[in-house]
Amino acid sequence: MKNHRQNNNLAGVAGVLTSANSVILSGHVMPDGDSIGSTIALGLALEKMGKKVTLSSPHAVPEMYRFLPGAHRVHQGLPEGEYDVFVVLDCSVPDRLGDRLQKLLDKDITVVNIDHHQTKETFAHVNYIDPKAAATGEIIYDLLVEMGVDLDLDIATNLYTAIVTDTGAFKYEGTTANTHRKAAALLECGVPGSRICKLLYDEKPIEVLKVLQAALPTLSISPCGKVAWISFDWQSRQRVGARDEHTDELVDYPRKIKGVEVAMLFREISPGSVKVSMRSNYYVDVNKLAAQFDGGGHKRAAGCLIQGEFNAVKERVIEAAIQVVQRGT
Ligand code: 5GP
Ligand code: MN
Repeated sequence: MKNHRQNNNLAGVAGVLTSANSVILSGHVMPDGDSIGSTIALGLALEKMGKKVTLSSPHAVPEMYRFLPGAHRVHQGLPEGEYDVFVVLDCSVPDRLGDRLQKLLDKDITVVNIDHHQTKETFAHVNYIDPKAAATGEIIYDLLVEMGVDLDLDIATNLYTAIVTDTGAFKYEGTTANTHRKAAALLECGVPGSRICKLLYDEKPIEVLKVLQAALPTLSISPCGKVAWISFDWQSRQRVGARDEHTDELVDYPRKIKGVEVAMLFREISPGSVKVSMRSNYYVDVNKLAAQFDGGGHKRAAGCLIQGEFNAVKERVIEAAIQVVQRGT
């Protein structure tokens, strides 16, 4: 199998997983609900099939996702162990696994990548990439059907959270009738949909509001009115005592401004290391904009990590965004 590359065959993915013994699963760095929910959901399903399962993540599960059944089992980094299959979820490039988990890609094990980002190249032995899926969780849903695993409440709760978070609670463009059908089936398993949305969106640690208070004065808009951004530098982060997860929603503020097409959040995640989140409203492909800086993502949501002085990085990226909106792509 390892020397035999296989792409976009869900039955093939199901076959590899069905014949596996010991499986390790991981999503991406700075994990979101789709990454964590998909990892746990597939892991729990494989366990029901009698597999030895190790759940992992390059970074710890953010506090807001710790309510997920199975979240306490997610290891950070690469736990010692013997694995025959490595399932990589929601990662478009190996870099997204972080340094430690990436090492598994060089081991003599079968690597399966399940993802919904637009990618130029595949990196696993078995790849299932569907950019039409609104969340990796949607693909996992189909995979569980393919493998004949009965959904239970724990699995369904993880999948529902994956889908809700990656669709912005069903608001984003990628949301389809199929997305809603799958969400409906998950609700029929007993998932408490409105309780989950309350936990995700309407119950925030105080740090989130302190971050907003510190960041809102930085909200800026280009003279053309189509590019807006908000910033959160290292100093502010230290002062507020915030973690990455407390800053995730800041990008929604520049995006809300009427007439803005490209919204960006500049975060210094460590001194000299700037994480840029990019969003577009109607027509700009921010995946391409992020690619100019070695990042990636989707048409309407993408990101990149740039090393450099905070203001210098901002200037370069804002200039590139203004050029893109001027070209109208
Ligand atoms: P966010 O801005 O919420 O971190 O990410 C938005 C989207 O862009 C997600 O789909 C995420 O996977 C992708 N993304 C964010 N940062 C990076 C990056 O540094 N590299 C790549 N390839 N994708 C990224
Ligand atoms: Mn995703």
